[in-house]
Order: sequence, then C-alpha cells, then structure tokens
Amino acid sequence: MITVANIKDIEPGQYDEAWAIVRSPKNAPKWMRHVPELSPSWQLFELYRKKRASIQWTKAVFEEEYVPRFLNEMQTQAAREKLNELFLRSHKGEHIAVACFCTDAEKCHRSIAASLLHGVGCEVEMLDGKLNAVYSKRYKSNE
Ligand SMILES: [Zn+2]
Repeated sequence: MITVANIKDIEPGQYDEAWAIVRSPKNAPKWMRHVPELSPSWQLFELYRKKRASIQWTKAVFEEEYVPRFLNEMQTQAAREKLNELFLRSHKGEHIAVACFCTDAEKCHRSIAASLLHGVGCEVEMLDGKLNAVYSKRYKSNE
C-alpha cells in the first residue's frame, strides 16, 4: 500500500518507509528517505514558484503547463527506477508513505505520482485530494 500525503501528516513509525519526494534535502525530515528523483526538476519547481508568487498558480496552469512537463520528467531512467521500486515493494506488502510539502494536493506533483502508481495497479490512498486517473493515461500515451 502507498499512502500519499503532505509531509506534516506523515507520522514517524507508521510506515515501512517514508519518502520525501522534494527537490531539496534541507527541508525534508531527517527520518524520511529523500527521493528527489520523484520531485520536479529545478526548472519546473521555478515555474511553480513564479506562478505562485504572481498568484497565477491555477488549476489550468497546473493541468496545461505543469502536468505535461512533470510527466515528461517521470520518463527518465532515474524516475522510473524509483516508481518501479514503489511498485515492487508495495506488491510485496510494504506500506510506504510518499510525501511533499504542497498544501494543495490537487495542484501538486504528489497527486501525479499517485496516479502513475495507481495506473500500474498499486493500491494507493491519498490522505488529501482525489486520485486523478487521467494523469496515468497521459503518461502511457507519452511512450
Ligand atoms: Zn508537492
């Protein structure tokens, strides 16, 4: 099982492993495993920061600009290896938390990662926000 959530909602000791899918290790809690491979690149993170600063971080910007770029980044070998590890470990019965800092899960890369894992048959729960199956379909059509 994979639990996808905001970092603040992940309690130590509740999971076999907890992954912080954030770019910078500075802010990730020490007890979590830092997995930048499943976070947006610095360039994509910069888009998010700029849009948010100018109050243009809308659902439309997320869907039309951010999602395609993030899906593309998830095609890299490094990202695929980490997604594959989650797939294999959850199928062996491990419970892994996958978390980042964004307050709005529906405009955040963790909801995209959740969709990709769900799309390949993982049992996924999101502690906040809805699972959006569309992202995994868009990912597959990229191949
Ligand atoms: Zn996020």
